Amino acid sequence: MNFSMSISENIVRLKTRLPEDVQLVAVSKTKSVDEIMEAYSTGHRIFGENKIQEMADKAEKLPKDIQWHMIGHVQRNKVKYMAPFVRMIHAVDSLRLLAEIEKQAGKHDRVIDCLLQIKIAEEESKFGLNEEDALTILNSEELKNYAHVRIVGLMGMATFTENESILNREFDRLKKFYDLHKDSFNLFHLSMGMSGDYELALAHGSTMVRVGSAIFGERNY
Ligand SMILES: *Cc1c(COP(=O)(O)O)cnc(C)c1O
Repeated sequence: MNFSMSISENIVRLKTRLPEDVQLVAVSKTKSVDEIMEAYSTGHRIFGENKIQEMADKAEKLPKDIQWHMIGHVQRNKVKYMAPFVRMIHAVDSLRLLAEIEKQAGKHDRVIDCLLQIKIAEEESKFGLNEEDALTILNSEELKNYAHVRIVGLMGMATFTENESILNREFDRLKKFYDLHKDSFNLFHLSMGMSGDYELALAHGSTMVRVGSAIFGERNY
């Protein structure tokens, strides 16, 4: 990726490379509202953040037709700050978290789409469910009674590596698990792929890529 291009050029060019039915989540964490507006000006509306407070601050300042996706780990006590506006939560990993999302979304009479985060990285990673625990959640009685939260798919983060055989194995495993269960549970999204690996993720059936630095440039923390 050539970072001398502008944000708007980057996003337009990236979108020409994505199949039409694949959604792009433009990951704007650490980026300013001006930078987000540059991407917005191309017609793009789906943005992803990994911190609830940062997302809420930006949502307040930016146009209301932006669809905000929470892609980071979520603490239950912060769900209330995003419940009024968040469109999708990518990293759900427990029934307790789902119960809180149900409660907070209910207060605003909304339905929040969620993805279950599945642990696919072979490297040590703190977050994500194993397949058995994901199935326990999908089959749970509580979930059937929820009217304000809807599990629409799965999300995975591959190992941070350029080793394609590792990435292939990890994406392939998640895709197989998704295919096995998507009809039983009405799942239609598989969120996988970031700046460094989205092409491989697409080849493995991703329906939603989360791309930050290839659009906005490197992040300065
Ligand atoms: C930061 C982040 C991304 C985007 O990463 P890039 O490598 O900049 O594209 C995608 N998914 C999650 C969960 C992230 O935290």
